Amino acid sequence: MNLNDIYIGSHVSLKSPDYFLGSVEEAFSYGANTFMFYTGAPQNALRLPLEKLKIEEGKALLKEKGINLSKLVVHAPYIINLANAKSPDLYEFSKRTLQNEMKRTAAFGASILVLHPGSHVGQGLECALSNLVRALNDIINNDHSNVRIALETMAGKGTEIGKQLEELKYVIDRIERKERIGVCLDTCHLFDAGYDIANIDEFLSLFDRIIGLNKILVLHINDSKNPAGLKKDRHQNIGEGFIGLDVLRSYVWHPLLKDIPKILETPYIGSNPPYKKEIAMLLNKHI
Ligand code: FE
Ligand code: FE
Ligand code: ZN
Repeated sequence: MNLNDIYIGSHVSLKSPDYFLGSVEEAFSYGANTFMFYTGAPQNALRLPLEKLKIEEGKALLKEKGINLSKLVVHAPYIINLANAKSPDLYEFSKRTLQNEMKRTAAFGASILVLHPGSHVGQGLECALSNLVRALNDIINNDHSNVRIALETMAGKGTEIGKQLEELKYVIDRIERKERIGVCLDTCHLFDAGYDIANIDEFLSLFDRIIGLNKILVLHINDSKNPAGLKKDRHQNIGEGFIGLDVLRSYVWHPLLKDIPKILETPYIGSNPPYKKEIAMLLNKHI
């Protein structure tokens, strides 16, 4: 595979004063050719109006640099939990928030929205999965954008659902508009959930048997602070954790994952983002 076939970047911020234009500039400063952002704070649903976010300026810069908007990724806020319908208010709030995020994602010209499947908070897995299916169908069937939701594979912390590929398959199988749903593979989460990801060909063939490779919309490339299977969800810098550089690099370079955006969500080192160095490490086959 050729370097030009690799779309790689990191999570970047969207903040005052330059908002989306600033996000694009931040991504370029890391040598990235794509990126992921939240359309507001990750942990809440408060959102500035789109007119304030310098979207056209950001798009113009992307165009000038020849960057393909179809590779940009938005992450929905963590506060959304469509798996828990115990509190009808919270469930409806989550639905409204996701509905709004889909519109916002489309306004940036992006078409991939990463969503955490949610937590069952004591209701049990089956109930949680059917709550999620019901909400997603309702939202997708009433949405007129072409935004695709990428359900993220989760570590299984607390009562998180989405730690087993079969759970995601269960949801995808029941979504009416299949072209609007897919998966975000997070290497740290998969490892933490107990998947053996070291042999990429074996892992991809397992994924293909259960869900289908054509459903992979995004990859989150993170190392893990903990050994496999501990379900702690602690991201580590590339090459500094228990997954290791070689394995992470194999996900960046695999021909079957060509064209799929790869996004780093590794921790800052002190107050410095590690992304420029880590992207270079992943792109260099030989260091
Ligand atoms: Fe996530
Ligand atoms: Fe992730
Ligand atoms: Zn995580």
